[in-house]
Amino acid sequence: MGILVENVSKQFGDFQALDNINLEVKNGSLTALLGPSGSGKSTLLRLIAGLETPDRGKIFITGKDFTSQDPRDRNIGFVFQHYALFKHMSVRQNIAFGLEIRKNPKQKTQARVDELLELVQLKGLGNRYPSQLSGGQRQRVALARALAVEPQVLLLDEPFGALDAQVRKELRAWLRRLHDEVHVTSVFVTHDQEEAMEVSDEIVVMNKGKIEQIGSPADVYDNPATSFVMSFIGPVN
Ligand code: ADP
Ligand code: MG
Repeated sequence: MGILVENVSKQFGDFQALDNINLEVKNGSLTALLGPSGSGKSTLLRLIAGLETPDRGKIFITGKDFTSQDPRDRNIGFVFQHYALFKHMSVRQNIAFGLEIRKNPKQKTQARVDELLELVQLKGLGNRYPSQLSGGQRQRVALARALAVEPQVLLLDEPFGALDAQVRKELRAWLRRLHDEVHVTSVFVTHDQEEAMEVSDEIVVMNKGKIEQIGSPADVYDNPATSFVMSFIGPVN
């Protein structure tokens, strides 16, 4: 079992940011939340992460009701658009951080860091500092750091949003390959149709705090469920 979001609503003041959301993210899948700016994607991700609590509804992660649990007990990895790495720490230290605070034995931690550096294709850059890396390399370190503790769930909020188009395209393809290797249940937020199409197993199209359609990239593209989906997904403009 992956993630189950049941009848979840969230309001900020008078503004209905999420309106009765129902969603199942299959175990081991890579699901994209796709929608225009302000449609509620980040709010939904933050609710799954436990950084916000829903006004109504429940959130289950691997079958367990996590609605009112401490976020630290969720074992979730995050990557955000501007995920600040620790500037005063090397790449290795950044990746090892989560393992060290959990008091993993030193040797085991170092072996795991080597494994992760290889996974994100940054072998040989372990002793650099974040300022000595490109934007794309930094996001790969952020991903390695998120994966270090073997999270049950990986949440990515526009992780490549700040990168230029070429790097973005490369990282998309790379993330897809990585996911095929690691298979951690992942939710990926993007406002970019092409990115969602290329990266994900399933696309959740959002608009104004509601889900318009859930389906495979081909489903959503070939059989748009609403006129919104048709215009949003339609010919890439
Ligand atoms: P998206 O990620 O799809 O761009 P968000 O989930 O960030 O959308 O935001 C949805 C709406 O909720 C936006 O109009 C935003 O201004 C509002 N919103 C999000 N977080 C807060 C907050 N903490 N307080 C007030 N309004 C918020
Ligand atoms: Mg957002």
